[in-house]
Amino acid sequence: MRCIIVGGGIAGITAAWKLASVCQVLLLEQRSVLGGRTSSLVDRVSGEEVDTGQHLLMGCYQTTLQLLADLGTSQWLYQWQDWQIHFRTVEGKAAVLSPGLRMPAAARFLRALVRFSLLSIPDRWRLIYGITKLVTSASVGQSCEQFLREVRQTPAAHQIFWRPLILATLNAEPADVDVSLLRTVVQQAFLGSVHEGAFVIPRRGLSALIAPITSWIQRYGGAVRLQAAVEQVCLNGDSAAGVQLRGGEVIPADVVVLAVPPYALQKLGVPITVPPLHYSPIFSIYLWFAEELPLPPMTALVGTTVQWVFHRQQLQFQTGSQFQTSLVLVISAARDLLSIPVSQLVEHCWEEVRSVFRLPPSVRPAHFRVMKEVKATPVFTPAVQLQRPAVQTPLQNVFLAGDWIQTGLPATIESATYSGVLAATTVQQYLQKGASG
Ligand SMILES: Cc1cc2nc3c(=O)[nH]c(=O)nc-3n(C[C@H](O)[C@H](O)[C@H](O)COP(=O)(O)OP(=O)(O)OC[C@H]3O[C@@H](n4cnc5c(N)ncnc54)[C@H](O)[C@@H]3O)c2cc1C
Repeated sequence: MRCIIVGGGIAGITAAWKLASVCQVLLLEQRSVLGGRTSSLVDRVSGEEVDTGQHLLMGCYQTTLQLLADLGTSQWLYQWQDWQIHFRTVEGKAAVLSPGLRMPAAARFLRALVRFSLLSIPDRWRLIYGITKLVTSASVGQSCEQFLREVRQTPAAHQIFWRPLILATLNAEPADVDVSLLRTVVQQAFLGSVHEGAFVIPRRGLSALIAPITSWIQRYGGAVRLQAAVEQVCLNGDSAAGVQLRGGEVIPADVVVLAVPPYALQKLGVPITVPPLHYSPIFSIYLWFAEELPLPPMTALVGTTVQWVFHRQQLQFQTGSQFQTSLVLVISAARDLLSIPVSQLVEHCWEEVRSVFRLPPSVRPAHFRVMKEVKATPVFTPAVQLQRPAVQTPLQNVFLAGDWIQTGLPATIESATYSGVLAATTVQQYLQKGASG
């Protein structure tokens, strides 16, 4: 039995990981590298691996962590259990949010919030009330903004806590995104065990983490083809007979998994309805410095264009470069910045960071690289969240995977890998039914 998986992003890779031992897998990827949005390149000047943007995983990413364990690349993950998020406001105020490790989850989070000195004491209590309501009563079909208004969050709690959290985890403005996803984030990341709430940070480029998938598939007799863009799915009634590549080659298949983003799916000639999605950009500005800069591993900036500053050396990234400091400045939901020239953007963002950290004007990056991901993630508005599709399609032997599938999770690596497992499980059931019937 041959299963064609279209799309070599992390969703397609996960489906291939699960299906390789079940049937003959052929993974088709249009680009010359696997990984899709979880891929990296080597920056020629610094020699460093640079991803499509800074990615953070969490201890609750069970499927992703199991995939990487099987691929033998877990040693390139930094498990940061006693994480500290430094906050800096444009006015120069500073605070740290960090968990207390030897306590039950809810107590740990409560303790961190009670000590969160950027907010006044009434703001903190209102915030704790809002979080309690979020995990006990928020449900699908309402935007984060509507919910936060309903539970009367103060402007300060909104600006300093909620908006940065929503931008960072959902890559969307609070008014645009469904509140059920925020509830999932808070429950899994903050109210789970110490292990689940740990940040898990790649110490190598994402391409290195997934590279062994090719030999994994080959070991079971399957194959990976790069630069193999699928033009259409070949239909035979309500089933797929195979796929046709750009260039005309037709490859027959018993089962097809379409692990491509919705805008790519729409071009494949399949009768599958895609919800009306729009996408949100993420910009990641990589900066390299000749000198060591005394910045924390991870800082949230409030009131600036730049939302996050990551210090790669402090986060144990294996830089292997001659530069002493590598920073990544991240801007989520960056639609308004799309038309700004890169050099102007870098100048503006570095000036913000330099001024917030009170660094002298003489400190300037020796080299920079900007990664603009225009379609970084789909935005799950309340209407879209209700319409995210399941892995099954109207076609008997065609299944879907991808971060946008109905997993109940935001558009993240874990949503993509979990959808890959769901697709693989459904393929197995389909094959077993065929064998028994
Ligand atoms: C800058 C950035 C930062 C992010 N940060 C985080 C983070 O911190 N934590 C987190 O969990 N998630 C993060 N994400 C989200 C995460 O990267 C994605 O949710 C995940 O990678 C999506 O994987 P996917 O396999 O569903 O889709 P994709 O990675 O888009 O894979 C789809 C693949 O299909 C291929 N394809 C498309 N059409 C065809 C065709 N016709 N024929 C053959 N191949 C085709 C594409 O080339 C691509 O390789 C971030 C994303 C970006 C862009």
